[in-house]
Amino acid sequence: MFTIGCHLSIAKGFAAAARDAASIGANTFQFFTRNPRGGKAKELDPDDLATFAEVRANEGIACILAHAPYTLNPASAKPETREFALQALADDLLRMEQIMPGQLYNMHPGAHVGQGSEVGIELIAETLNAALQPQQTTTLLLETMAGKGSEVGRRFEEIAAIIERVELDEHVGVCLDTCHIWDGGYDIAGALDGVLGEFDRIIGLDRLRAIHLNDSKNPCGAHKDRHEKLGLGHIGFEALSAVTNHPKLRELPFYLETPHDELSGYADEIARLKGARL
Ligand code: FE
Ligand code: FE
Ligand code: ZN
Repeated sequence: MFTIGCHLSIAKGFAAAARDAASIGANTFQFFTRNPRGGKAKELDPDDLATFAEVRANEGIACILAHAPYTLNPASAKPETREFALQALADDLLRMEQIMPGQLYNMHPGAHVGQGSEVGIELIAETLNAALQPQQTTTLLLETMAGKGSEVGRRFEEIAAIIERVELDEHVGVCLDTCHIWDGGYDIAGALDGVLGEFDRIIGLDRLRAIHLNDSKNPCGAHKDRHEKLGLGHIGFEALSAVTNHPKLRELPFYLETPHDELSGYADEIARLKGARL
């Protein structure tokens, strides 16, 4: 099955987001658990969640991916920032059990803000060890980053080092962002098999649970993180559709985070990807 969707707003609730997804030909979607710049999460509405379950059943929406706010930084040098990251993470994981059990929750690993990636890796693992619970059904995903600023997670080795330090690592996976790894220096357009081989050797492909499918405004290795619409960037549509067709990736859920103001922009990209699906 081709599991494809995009990032959607839940400002009007989860049921409305699921209907939006269905209206653009998607069978999954990603959403921010709270304002991407941080802050308090909106109260969950039991009526909305009940309708959400009905819409999912009717529209064939099998899975969802939550995204943590960008401001969440468990690698911060400030204890209060790390404490906020832990509280938000723990709260989000509890809410996921109510929204829909057994789903995916993605986060940017963090920024070491000059402390060095080794310190960053330790601090991130510390927060994950405090936040993850044995009974949780949600899988927490660490997103591969572009390496702008002091972001941890540009190199597969950094992601692997975090996971190695997590006790309940059965609850941890990876979300691969095509724009990020391209900007990070992995040539997925010219050498997809080589990049996946490296991922497998260092992290293990069994950890890979979701793909953010984005083109990039910049050349490979730029360390920029500027998403582009599919086919209008440096990766190109052919290389991105090859990602969705790769035998080792094709069963994963794919999420567009391309810059569109209208849902129709996503509908067009989803239709194009479906058309190119082998
Ligand atoms: Fe992200
Ligand atoms: Fe992403
Ligand atoms: Zn990005």
